Amino acid sequence: MDDVKDGIKYGFQTDNIWTVCVSGSGHGAMETSVCNLIEAGDKVMVCVNGLWGERFSDMADRHGANLSKIDKPMGTVFSLEEIEKGLQDNQPEIMFITHGESSGTTVQQLQGLGQLCHRYNCILIVDSVAAMGGVPLFMDQWEIDVLYTGAQKVLSAPPGVSPISFSNRARQKVENRKTKVRSYYFDMKELANYWGCDNEPRRYHHTGLISSVYALREGFARLAEVGLEQSWTTHTQCMQQLHAGIGDLGLELFVKEKSARLPCVTGIVVPEDIHWKDVSDYAMKNYRVEISGGLGAQAGKIWRIGLMGYNCTDSNVTLVLRALSEALDHVRNK
Ligand code: PMP
Repeated sequence: MDDVKDGIKYGFQTDNIWTVCVSGSGHGAMETSVCNLIEAGDKVMVCVNGLWGERFSDMADRHGANLSKIDKPMGTVFSLEEIEKGLQDNQPEIMFITHGESSGTTVQQLQGLGQLCHRYNCILIVDSVAAMGGVPLFMDQWEIDVLYTGAQKVLSAPPGVSPISFSNRARQKVENRKTKVRSYYFDMKELANYWGCDNEPRRYHHTGLISSVYALREGFARLAEVGLEQSWTTHTQCMQQLHAGIGDLGLELFVKEKSARLPCVTGIVVPEDIHWKDVSDYAMKNYRVEISGGLGAQAGKIWRIGLMGYNCTDSNVTLVLRALSEALDHVRNK
């Protein structure tokens, strides 16, 4: 557990005391950020440009948040000015944004955002489930208050345990709550003790997901061996190789603004003469390569290709392009 904590601190670039794993998939980490920080009536602003903002809003609403949203179409990201206007209009105590929007296949620039939120006395929660390790991320330097990721993306471990870290500001908000956290399992004070983050002896909280923690330790060991900078470079190079190949196939990328394209998940517009699933089925059946469909508003309209961590290699880019090209020919000739 201590090795995993060191791994999280490296991956997140943080020295936060409250750095732990939640026993649960990425949703468990989302629930942890919601149930610890939000008390009924708290003003929460959610930046929505895809499924994950919507889902966070749903969770915050279940905890009685006084909710406001700022929206952008899927496939686009927020500017600092747009967010500042939202902060001025809504005066939230807590704000949520998604780093790697896996449904819209965008990467949100986060530099300056923590400092901006803090000028407005607002706590910043960032979902980096689909981005951490694939693109630069500096939790402390960028003043992110709550950050979480998943095991099964760039870390290439099985799903089931999710790293999460709270800044001192976020920790104080939790410690000053007027009401008890409404989840025992996800209570950060309990989890912090269980993960050896306070000066007390570790108490039994729940049965640790031992095999998952060992697997995650290996995921972080791999990331540390590769090195964060090299991992970011590899993800960018594979993305560029994939995007060039997609262009050669006459297909269009979903995200128009180059700087907003998430290296970990690429969105491709499904041409009008094709049914997306026929292509995905062909790739799965003949190559055992999974090309996902779209989510939410983009269901049926885009394909999504994930290249993350251990799977992010030039040979896998070649493989998926071959599967895609052959699948398109097959479906068009049928
Ligand atoms: N946030 C983002 C950005 C995600 O991509 C995902 C998983 N696709 C989640 C949260 C939820 O993670 P999980 O499916 O592991 O619960």
